[in-house]
Amino acid sequence: MLTTGPRGTKDILPDTSGFWQYVEKKAREVCNLFGYREIRTPIFEHTELFLRGIGETTDIVEKEMYTFSDRGGRSITLRPENTAAVVRAFLEHKLYADTPPAKLFYIGPMFRYDRPQAGRYRQFHQFGIEAIGAKGPAIDAEIIILATQFLRSLGLNELVLQLNSVGCPECRPKYRSVLQEFLRDKLSNLCKDCQSRFDRNPMRILDCKQAECTSLTQGAPQMVDCLCDECNQHFTQLKTLLTAGNIEFKLNPRLVRGLDYYTKTAFEIQYAPLGSQSAVCGGGRYDGLIAECGGQPTPGIGFAIGMERVLLALEKQNLLPDVMNQYDVFVIPLGEKAQAAAFKVLCDLRKSGYIADMDFMDRSLKAQMKLANKFSAQYAVIIGDDEVATNSAVLKNMQTGEQQQINFDELLKKLDTEVNG
Ligand code: AMP
Repeated sequence: MLTTGPRGTKDILPDTSGFWQYVEKKAREVCNLFGYREIRTPIFEHTELFLRGIGETTDIVEKEMYTFSDRGGRSITLRPENTAAVVRAFLEHKLYADTPPAKLFYIGPMFRYDRPQAGRYRQFHQFGIEAIGAKGPAIDAEIIILATQFLRSLGLNELVLQLNSVGCPECRPKYRSVLQEFLRDKLSNLCKDCQSRFDRNPMRILDCKQAECTSLTQGAPQMVDCLCDECNQHFTQLKTLLTAGNIEFKLNPRLVRGLDYYTKTAFEIQYAPLGSQSAVCGGGRYDGLIAECGGQPTPGIGFAIGMERVLLALEKQNLLPDVMNQYDVFVIPLGEKAQAAAFKVLCDLRKSGYIADMDFMDRSLKAQMKLANKFSAQYAVIIGDDEVATNSAVLKNMQTGEQQQINFDELLKKLDTEVNG
């Protein structure tokens, strides 16, 4: 137990953390291009926020939350997603008073008691966007394009954007009853979960992954055929904007977010080579959520991208960059007297901005040279007793093998001309 992490968690080790930093940097870059600024909310929130903000009939709330009482007796939940928390912060800090829309992004861990498998973890990380305050379809198109641009900037091109509209509280009740009529005589053959969804949340039956349910719902009436004028117009304009932005999409009537505060646009981006966990991004409009959380009615839309899945995709496609830490200089003291002088040179190098290191394990000269090679150091600075006596060091170019004796005072200047030309 003590040497194994909890099921569904993963350590990000030094060999891979560089890949994470690379992907996070790309996310920040694309957010910057699109005018989205970072928001960091706590990892835990009051449970009530998620009950309201995600919906009590969702799998997340029913089965997947890490909920506990803290020592003060409050019910606390580790965030299973971040939209509700961002909305909470938006209201708490009156971000609506700034020029709308609020364009926000976040990167961080989420927690769900899910069944762990490749691409599915209990602690996982999402990069997400929330755009709060704009109701027109242009912002929908913008965030979809942002997600696509981010994934493409990493070299992921085989993306499939699935698109749907889930209507609004105006048109959905009609669709709901049309759908219930269609499902009524199939009810007893649906899975248990879907049977219980029939009254509470029938649209969710459409995205059940059980084979029996999928086949029974073939030919079901589609939300897009029941949209009110406003939703229909929104959807049509969105499709026009995406086409203008050169973004291909596939209509998927099964893509649903069955809660009242999810409205209009729903989308998912899949990366097929990932296999069963191919969804890398899920998003949609939530025009009723801010009011549900206690604010003035305010439209909003967002998405979340699963970082682990993006990294899996990059690994699969050999798209991970070379992030091996390359040292500028490796400092090698020979003998005890040289230790302090070498340490001072090391400190000076680092102060001047060189990536520099030395041995801390009393290794032999040969082993230290090996280490310098392992870290692909461009230069070794070798300091022996003789050098200490003359205040100098041997500067060795690790690629050419060329070496020269150089005064401590001249070392930084020399390196500067060697490295920076
Ligand atoms: P969701 O918040 O459920 O809409 O998920 C958005 C994205 O987060 C998905 O498309 C996945 O890429 C990722 N994701 C969701 N749940 C998990 C999980 N348990 N493990 C890893 N990634 C996940």
